Amino acid sequence: MLVDLHCHSTLSDGVLTPLELVALATRNQVAMLAITDHDFACEKPEAELLARQCGVQLIAGIELSCLWMGMGVHLVGLNLDYQSGALRQMVAHQSQARAERAHSIADKLAKLKIEGSYAGAQRLAQGGQIGRPHFAQYLVEAGYVKDVKAAFKRYLGAGKAGDVKCHWPDMEQGINWIKAAGGHAVLAHPAKYKLSRRKLGLMCRDFKEMGGTGLELVSGLQTKEITQYHARLCSELELYASCGSDFHGPATAWQDLGKCSPMPSGVTPIWSLWQSSFVKDMVSSADQRQADE
Ligand code: AMP
Ligand code: MN
Ligand code: MN
Ligand code: MN
Repeated sequence: MLVDLHCHSTLSDGVLTPLELVALATRNQVAMLAITDHDFACEKPEAELLARQCGVQLIAGIELSCLWMGMGVHLVGLNLDYQSGALRQMVAHQSQARAERAHSIADKLAKLKIEGSYAGAQRLAQGGQIGRPHFAQYLVEAGYVKDVKAAFKRYLGAGKAGDVKCHWPDMEQGINWIKAAGGHAVLAHPAKYKLSRRKLGLMCRDFKEMGGTGLELVSGLQTKEITQYHARLCSELELYASCGSDFHGPATAWQDLGKCSPMPSGVTPIWSLWQSSFVKDMVSSADQRQADE
């Protein structure tokens, strides 16, 4: 049974609508899906209806941009209550931070003689949360760079002009918002921060002490060594394990919805928190397999 608890729709920087994501989840036999747009979450009635019809369990999610020791980190919030005031407050805060940052990015780019990037990025965001990928697409479209990768390398990536400091909340604030919205906070893609093991350990410890619940032990396809290391962190810190593809669109063959390295044994999946009967089934079928062997 495939579980994917991290992907993006057109509500942020993804290519597919929530409805199209659910249709793809069905085709890819993903049984449980969380759509986790950057700093945005709302009811998705059409997608929820299709999910019910197709037997996909849709989990309400978000990917929240935060800071830890001044460094950008992402928290995945899962099983949120869309109606909660805390969720509205968090989305309103983050939307404003993104809008302000977009203007700053455009100002920085204008100093480099790149004109019209705010309007361009806003058009490309199509009403969804505006982010650096939309600026990257604009830079490609306007002929400043040959592709999105080059746009990040030259203008938007770490330390470049468009990497503007943003008023993201501290990790603790992010965790508190997610919990106040009825959800569970998961530290997203731990390998992506390119931290030393010591520093990643510190980050995970802080995250746990601040009330974090889970670690995204598997993010897309990754090596067994990374999986084993993250599994150790989960066990040591008593964190639940999550997994997700971080799928943004069907552009690359090695990334697809539901396509993740396998979860290791000996960790507790985060979905056991809302799916105890499901986990009992998994455990009993695993026991059965062992008994059969
Ligand atoms: P933002 O949340 O606006 O800061 O944008 C971050 C997003 O940009 C990530 O979630 C990725 O989707 C995308 N991104 C970050 N770095 C790169 C890169 N080097 N190449 C392509 N996309 C990237
Ligand atoms: Mn993204
Ligand atoms: Mn992320
Ligand atoms: Mn993501």
